[in-house]
Amino acid sequence: MTSKEITLFRENLLTWFETYHRKLPWRETEDPYRIWVSEVMLQQTQVKKVLEYYQKFVSKFPDVKSLAAAPLQDLLKTWEGLGYYARARNLHKAAQVVIRDLKGKVPADYAAFRELPGVGEYIAAAVQSIAFNHSYAVVDGNVKRVIARLFLINAPINQSASGKVFQEKADLLLDHTAPGIFNQAMMELGATLCRPQSPTCVICPVNTGCRAFQTARQAEFPVRRKSKPLPEYHIVAGVIHKSDRILITQRKLEGLLGGLWEFPGGKIWEKEAAEQACSRAIREETNLLVEPIEYLTRVKHTYTHFKIVMDVFHCHYRSGEVVLNEAVDYRWITVDQIDQFPFPRSNHKFISLLTQGKEDSNE
Ligand code: SF4
Repeated sequence: MTSKEITLFRENLLTWFETYHRKLPWRETEDPYRIWVSEVMLQQTQVKKVLEYYQKFVSKFPDVKSLAAAPLQDLLKTWEGLGYYARARNLHKAAQVVIRDLKGKVPADYAAFRELPGVGEYIAAAVQSIAFNHSYAVVDGNVKRVIARLFLINAPINQSASGKVFQEKADLLLDHTAPGIFNQAMMELGATLCRPQSPTCVICPVNTGCRAFQTARQAEFPVRRKSKPLPEYHIVAGVIHKSDRILITQRKLEGLLGGLWEFPGGKIWEKEAAEQACSRAIREETNLLVEPIEYLTRVKHTYTHFKIVMDVFHCHYRSGEVVLNEAVDYRWITVDQIDQFPFPRSNHKFISLLTQGKEDSNE
């Protein structure tokens, strides 16, 4: 693109955004903390889903101070179902750093902000540009798709080595007089018109400068590297009943689903029956002797890097004291107390069966 074309591109994009942008709650605020929260939530998550969580989150934790002071469990409970829980744990740690070392102020400086836990290039560029109008171009999945089509870029968008190519083009296009609005406009264009399937090119404000549109090659871009099929693991979980209580355990604070609670269990070995695996895995994980007495259900769930098929059993507690192997904490709770703890989505897929049973028996 020539500099004249770039100027026209910026003007057309910003004019379109001013009229057609979606009204989203995080666009109604100038508070860097709230903009930060929204950008953390929006990473790898659809706007529709974030809308369910954002208001609840900022009502409960209205500022950095309240977030830093909150117990991690409260934060995870509010985040429950949004996924990628490391985002929540890092946001919590970062809020504590801001209170402890930065006088409670979100840094209006890219380098200082980038040093906070969980703040990568995307979050740093988004918050610094939107909250402070600093000139950093944001590159997320939507922006990559737009750029790939505008410039017919062959580098696969799902390969980290391609990042530089997209960043260079985003830097070239960035409007330095209004970087925050410009970044939001680029992301909005990708989310609403330049969609993965059937982009709405006829009404696109930048179609005159789009090489994919001009050559009718929109469907060929962006290019993706074929990813390998995800491995699938067969696992078991047990709802262990001891009088009117059931056992839940808490995962280590770091790593996948860190800090969340779950029903104990583990992987099924080759040629092992699911019931057998259930009592063995629970013994290994908690030191308890249990007996699976009733098949509850099968749950399927897909994580970013693998899939699980989980068979869930009701189990009788037989003997033993809880000694934890992997988990960091445990509780014997009543079914009514389940709601007080944050669980992964895979567990929620059968928790409803437990709580339903409870409601039915109360009728
Ligand atoms: Fe995307 Fe079509 Fe606009 Fe090009 S013209 S940026 S392909 S919506």
